[in-house]
Amino acid sequence: MKFIDFNFEPALQEGLDSMRFENPTPVQEQAIPIILNNKDLIAVAQTGTGKTAAFLLPVLNKLAKKPSDHTNTLVIVPTRELAIQIDQALQGFSYFTSTSSLAIFGGGTGISFENEKRALTQGANIIIATPGRLMSHLNMGYVKFDQLEHLILDEADKMLDMGFVDDITKIITYLPKKKQTLLFSATMPQSIVKLAKKLLVDPEQISIAISKPAAGIVQSAYKVSNQQKNKLIKSILKEKEYNSVLVFSSTKQKVKDLYSELLSAGLKVKAIHSDLEQKEREEVLRGFRNKQTQILVATDILSRGIDIEDIELVINYDVPGDAEDYIHRIGRTARANTKGAAITFINEQDQQKFLRIEKLIGKEIEKKTFV
Ligand code: AMP
Repeated sequence: MKFIDFNFEPALQEGLDSMRFENPTPVQEQAIPIILNNKDLIAVAQTGTGKTAAFLLPVLNKLAKKPSDHTNTLVIVPTRELAIQIDQALQGFSYFTSTSSLAIFGGGTGISFENEKRALTQGANIIIATPGRLMSHLNMGYVKFDQLEHLILDEADKMLDMGFVDDITKIITYLPKKKQTLLFSATMPQSIVKLAKKLLVDPEQISIAISKPAAGIVQSAYKVSNQQKNKLIKSILKEKEYNSVLVFSSTKQKVKDLYSELLSAGLKVKAIHSDLEQKEREEVLRGFRNKQTQILVATDILSRGIDIEDIELVINYDVPGDAEDYIHRIGRTARANTKGAAITFINEQDQQKFLRIEKLIGKEIEKKTFV
């Protein structure tokens, strides 16, 4: 599925195009139609899954269709960092629309409080706020939420952990009864189930499960230019005698080129990609399984599901486009509690993609340089 299949308003689609968002992530694919359909929603999804766009895009589409002079959407978040991050994403998506927004969070200067007051009085379309700061404004009496149509609670579990439950309950009393409520949370403890029962009406539920990489995998990465990649991979593969190494690259052309490169460097290597006949693929796989072939270069056709034992090392010659593919790729090693290693090559253009992977697995990976 592609974003264009949602038939968003042209101005919103233009924003997505300029951000190079083409394919929705699973949480986006599932949440967007529900939100467009005005249903309440509980979504279990972590940072890194694309949850921000999952709730922003349908709201922005409704606003692009029916522009408003009032505050239409309130997003409540646990931290100022998240408020800023959501507002930045929003500004990207809504660049070609007339939607206005403001992030409201504690710890700023008197000037920022005045700016927030103005936005709240004049009815900025989307307000992204931390609970404590929003309460300070609400207590002053000028906040206009009477036209509010959407309430979004992001990282709800974290907000409860941080003790914001009373603030949230109080904030709700300032909002219209009839509205669409969306609750996003990385986990679903009893306290969230209770909160959801109180706030949501007949909600739809979605849950995006991600599996974390096995603990036995030692993950590292190299920051490299494209020109350095071949030299680096050869130096890694010649460093020691590996029994079983799986190398992933994103396109079949790159797989073919890399295969020729490693072959001419005297390495025992085979390649697998979709241009091979089924019989040839099986043959290559068999050779790799029984350790006749030490190094196999593959596209993502091998990253999901295939169970090969004792792979010592997985090399990502480039960063996979889909963060979950990273988990699938490196999951080929360290199966059944053995030890394994995964090394990823990151060029300049792939740095954002890798950041998304780190968010998804909730861990920063050590990055080395190669000279
Ligand atoms: P989030 O889980 O909302 O924090 O998003 C994690 C990262 O993924 C952010 O850097 C987004 O810009 C990026 N992202 C989200 N959805 C997509 C998509 N459909 N295509 C490409 N990048 C995306």
